[in-house]
Amino acid sequence: MSITATQEEFDPVALRQKYDEERQKRLRRDGNEQYQEMKGDFSYFMDDPYVVEPISRAPLEDEVDVVIVGGGLGGLLAGARLREAGVEDIRVIEKASDFGGTWYWNRYPGAACDIEAYTYLPLLEELGYIPPRKYADAPEILSHCQKIAKKYRLYDNACMQTEVQKFIWDEATRRWTIFTNRDDKIKARFVLMVNGPLNRPKLPGIKGISRFKGHTFHTSRWDYNYTGGDAHGNLSGLKNKRVGIIGTGATAIQCVSFLGDAAKQLYVFQRTPSGVDVRNDRPTDMQWANDLAPGWQKKRQKDFTAVLSGRGGRRGENDQLDQFDDAWVEMGKIYRRRMREAGSGVQRSDIAGIYELSNFEKMENVRNRVDEIVKDKTVAEALKPYYAFMCKRPCLDDRYLPTFNRDNVQLVDTNGQGVEAITENGVVVDGVEYEVDCLIFATGFEVGTDYTRRAGYDMIGVDGISLDEKWRNGMISYFGMHSHGFPNCLLIGNGQAAFTANYPDALDEGAKHSAYLIKHFLDHDITRVDVTESVEQQWTAEVVGTKAVTVMGGSSCTPGYYNLEGQHDPRSRYNQPYGGMLGANDYFAKLEAFREADKMPGLILS
Ligand code: NDP
Repeated sequence: MSITATQEEFDPVALRQKYDEERQKRLRRDGNEQYQEMKGDFSYFMDDPYVVEPISRAPLEDEVDVVIVGGGLGGLLAGARLREAGVEDIRVIEKASDFGGTWYWNRYPGAACDIEAYTYLPLLEELGYIPPRKYADAPEILSHCQKIAKKYRLYDNACMQTEVQKFIWDEATRRWTIFTNRDDKIKARFVLMVNGPLNRPKLPGIKGISRFKGHTFHTSRWDYNYTGGDAHGNLSGLKNKRVGIIGTGATAIQCVSFLGDAAKQLYVFQRTPSGVDVRNDRPTDMQWANDLAPGWQKKRQKDFTAVLSGRGGRRGENDQLDQFDDAWVEMGKIYRRRMREAGSGVQRSDIAGIYELSNFEKMENVRNRVDEIVKDKTVAEALKPYYAFMCKRPCLDDRYLPTFNRDNVQLVDTNGQGVEAITENGVVVDGVEYEVDCLIFATGFEVGTDYTRRAGYDMIGVDGISLDEKWRNGMISYFGMHSHGFPNCLLIGNGQAAFTANYPDALDEGAKHSAYLIKHFLDHDITRVDVTESVEQQWTAEVVGTKAVTVMGGSSCTPGYYNLEGQHDPRSRYNQPYGGMLGANDYFAKLEAFREADKMPGLILS
């Protein structure tokens, strides 16, 4: 079997070359170093604009069984699963003033989730909640987070507006001491780190960035006092303002249309276009919802993860794929159709080619959509993504592209080079200064920097060893959860663990596993739990050995945070998820097998 360019509506050879050109154009030696950390003169960008009432309290010097760091979806799920297991003495520590994590911080206009709410919003059956629409917006998700916190009594004993500064292990008492910015010295038998993968916003290291004299903020700290309005738009404060937004990732795709509606003039500074797919949000079919059988959500979540890992429908279980109907699964459906068309003569060696053609077809659909919507042909061409599906976060949005038909909106494409400079009055691209009153950074979050830098604290384990030092050259762990020399400490994240675009699914697996472990330790009066060095070496070798990392880093991908800015940093193989971007279900199966064995293999208990 062979497919030639002439059988296709696109030219695979030309596309392969174009993808590579777009990648080469953007590769830069400084990789992740190109970004500016939000500290020192830039630390004000991190201030919390959403605090309703600043908390004033005396420092705590007490003890709890379990401290959970982070009150986002991961911390909430960990708390919920611990409560279900019967663990009572829990304290959540969170720097924000409420639960919600990413949904606490990201309140920009248009903020919403583009994974369907039926799989994304956790604990729907436990809370007896059916989302009213296919996609949930940020206020609905934040409210759902708060409902989880209430149901599982996680507000009790929580420390909000509190930042952890350091953990120190005390071998004599077999306790961690947690030091915070409020001078707390809290002791805990077990600590659970759930910091979130995108919790630390970043700025581009553009020349002159500190010179700008106008108003400025990052999208994760939206200044509604300045713009007016709320997450649903109506930004009346921008009526007479010239606004610039730097970045065109998933966040910008959602908020740009609201800026376009409100501002006198909007400049969108683009380095790489996002692929913007159909959203087609709609009310929930209540007949469908009423017919759902108990256990439906877990099954749906697992099916969705299977589909995203390229497994949906593999064993003839076509409903796994067919129950979903949005842009996330289109690629899988194209691939299935092409495999059918290839017929029984298809050889193993044909599969990579069929996959590549499916990917080209999927992205051609995305590019054709731009032509259908954007009237100006030059602008439309600049908005087309030339890279493979899943090189960057796919976006589902029906408002972004039409915004470029407005007279007050201008796309400033930087031809992959990024903004040249920032001046007192505006932004320079290709020697042209665009004057703005307000400059918004939609420039994302730190990924791939050291764990402790992103977490904002270090851990000092056995014999004074620091986690920062131990992981300087990359993560070493067992299941991404335990690290030798850091007893009684569990981590829930994606490094050496699971990644799936429906991230709460991965968080919940980590939460269930942590609850199983902690409940066992407490019930059996186990006061010290560490992992053997040999088992963490084995696990780390298995993670490092996976080839899947190249799926997002190959010549068909422009740089970005999915592939560590296209750099071949050896640490990335250590810090990647188990099985790369495709191993989530295998990882979940490994955790389940561990629990079923019921013998705590690889752990040293005393
Ligand atoms: P991203 O990291 O995805 O985007 C940052 C943007 O800034 C990119 O377009 C990047 O360009 C651009 N940029 C960086 N430096 C420069 C520069 N010097 N000049 C010009 N542009 C520059 O951050 P987001 O906040 O958009 O999204 C982060 C993640 O949050 C998403 O990937 C997704 O996982 C999540 N998210 C999820 C949503 C959901 O629906 N569930 C909604 C919104 C966000 P380049 O691409 O060239 O690097």
